Amino acid sequence: MVFLSEPPPTQADLHFSLFGFPVRISPWFWAVSALMGIRGATGPADLLIWIAVIFVSILVHELGHAFAMRHYGWNARITLYQFGGLASPESNWSMQQSHNSPKSQILISLAGPAAGFMLAGLVIAVLYVAERKIGFFFGLTFGTGQPFEFRSPPHMLVHDLLFVNILWGLVNLLPVYPLDGGQVSRELFMLYSPRRGIVQSLWLSVIAGGAVPLLRSCGWSSRAYTSL
Ligand SMILES: [Zn+2]
Repeated sequence: MVFLSEPPPTQADLHFSLFGFPVRISPWFWAVSALMGIRGATGPADLLIWIAVIFVSILVHELGHAFAMRHYGWNARITLYQFGGLASPESNWSMQQSHNSPKSQILISLAGPAAGFMLAGLVIAVLYVAERKIGFFFGLTFGTGQPFEFRSPPHMLVHDLLFVNILWGLVNLLPVYPLDGGQVSRELFMLYSPRRGIVQSLWLSVIAGGAVPLLRSCGWSSRAYTSL
């Protein structure tokens, strides 16, 4: 996600720099990730894999937004917090409106999910090279050769990486504000109808928002492992 307001800094924040982007991680990020993973976890290794996957995947997603912002001339910083991640422009975004175009906004929004899909693609490529196979949602399988031992650490690692980067990426593209897909649909509506675009995109957001709990009940928000 981009542009939402950031949480206040705390003393337990972790700071580092990645590809020149300052990164801040709130302690609440770890707490919420652990809470999300604890339901399906069978032990500490299982939980640690989940937290590591969430951390890497959200960081990659925000790096996608941050690199796109840099491409359009903005310095970006990344924050990971209880609601996921944020990529924010370093200077005052509204002061830069003159450089701002709907096309750049749309590409910045799409770059987050795109980065996640690329990471998933990389994981799938590794499966083919290593001749390992994994079962996924909807009867899909990725890779070739020997299946992983069910719920072994490598199986959970690969499954969680694909799960978060593919499924969450798709959900994030729904036209629901403030998800990335909602930012894209708002820009598109504004482009075609500058006066009524915001209202129309909010209506679409409300309607499509109804799909989110429906998807959740189909298991899209919990780790459901598929055996081969
Ligand atoms: Zn995003």
